[in-house]
Amino acid sequence: MSRGPLLFKDIDTPGLAGIETYKRGGGYETLAATLGKTPADQVIEVVKASGLRGRGGAGFPTGMKWSFVPKASPKARYIVCNADESEPGTFKDRELMEKNPHLLIEGMILAGYAIGSNLGYIYLRGEFEYIQRILDRAIDEARAAGLLGDNVAGSGYRFQLHTHLGAGAYICGEETALLSSLEGYRGQPRLKPPFPAVEGLYACPTVVNNTETLMAVPPILKNGAAWYRQWGTEKSAGTKVFSVSGPVQRPGNYEVPLGYSMKKLIEDDCGGMRDGFRLKAVIPGGSSVPLLPAADLDTPLDYESMNAKGTFLGSGGVIVIDDRTCIVDALWNVTRFYEHESCGKCTPCREGTYWMSEVFERLEHGKGKPNDIDLLADVADNILGKSFCALGDAAAMPVQGALKYFRPEFEHHVMHKACMVNRRRDEVAGVRG
Ligand code: SF4
Repeated sequence: MSRGPLLFKDIDTPGLAGIETYKRGGGYETLAATLGKTPADQVIEVVKASGLRGRGGAGFPTGMKWSFVPKASPKARYIVCNADESEPGTFKDRELMEKNPHLLIEGMILAGYAIGSNLGYIYLRGEFEYIQRILDRAIDEARAAGLLGDNVAGSGYRFQLHTHLGAGAYICGEETALLSSLEGYRGQPRLKPPFPAVEGLYACPTVVNNTETLMAVPPILKNGAAWYRQWGTEKSAGTKVFSVSGPVQRPGNYEVPLGYSMKKLIEDDCGGMRDGFRLKAVIPGGSSVPLLPAADLDTPLDYESMNAKGTFLGSGGVIVIDDRTCIVDALWNVTRFYEHESCGKCTPCREGTYWMSEVFERLEHGKGKPNDIDLLADVADNILGKSFCALGDAAAMPVQGALKYFRPEFEHHVMHKACMVNRRRDEVAGVRG
């Protein structure tokens, strides 16, 4: 991972996945300094003051989410790490967990302590079996070192942690579907309210946080809220890891302060476009958010700036699209993904994603009808805001964004029965060598 002197500056330290190396760098010191010494409410206040927001996509304030857990509830409470990372274009949590599993464990124990939980789960997507092995090994090390169990770090606080492997369904990244899956049921979203903080896992108060969010907690508690706020903007505080993919010189994960220039990230940090490619558009926050045209490349990477441009920071999956990529074909690919991953529970998403996919197929194969573009816009509009969970919006918004900025490409497909950029996705591998 490439970065400045920020939160994850030690991530490439050799052997960091082992507890000895992690401890040599100050690991678990925050845990020992906090448990039994700092009241749980105070921990929540520090996280609130830091301005940390959920790094999985929604950007909800983390400390506020923790404070929603009812204090008087006689039920068990759970802390769950959402390590599903199923959003296309996003691969940051994978690297963070592979290289520094103990930071996640320390973050989960601290989060568990803050909300009064004695049991945590790390929910991983099915393809992350190899990461489960890394985490399980680290959990065993932490347990052997007295950092998990009945008396965590000698504080009297009891906390256990387990990993759980899903089956690779995109929808299990949605927190209520994740909880259903964790309980052994089919991974389908649940009606909200009640929200998980009140009625989550096994109908008990539960906090679900993204991996990167939880890994930010130990350094925040160690250094304080003001330290974390040295980066970012007033409303988008701190740093964020962005996964950059596409035809840039150096794709990969980059940790930068929020508010960082997307142009600088792509042109300087990633080395610009690969030879022979020009930037045409960027999907800034994973495949579920509307794309931005090249003219908006200098949009700052923070929640508010992205919203002002009609898109979202999302999970930080920055997908760079070049001038030889057909937008219609690219969006057909995205739409087929959502059609395949729709859980089928509600009609707008189940039928709408299928319908949009059909229209895209017609357009791509030179069989587009004159009213197909309006039909696409109409179906997307009937999915957006009318589906049971956010997957419906995730399927509709990229299509609306593409129609807003690249409608002439769609029209060309209808009028000329061919693509105006002369290249399809299945030709890309050959072109790029
Ligand atoms: Fe399932 Fe899609 Fe409806 Fe969500 S929006 S509940 S994924 S069918």
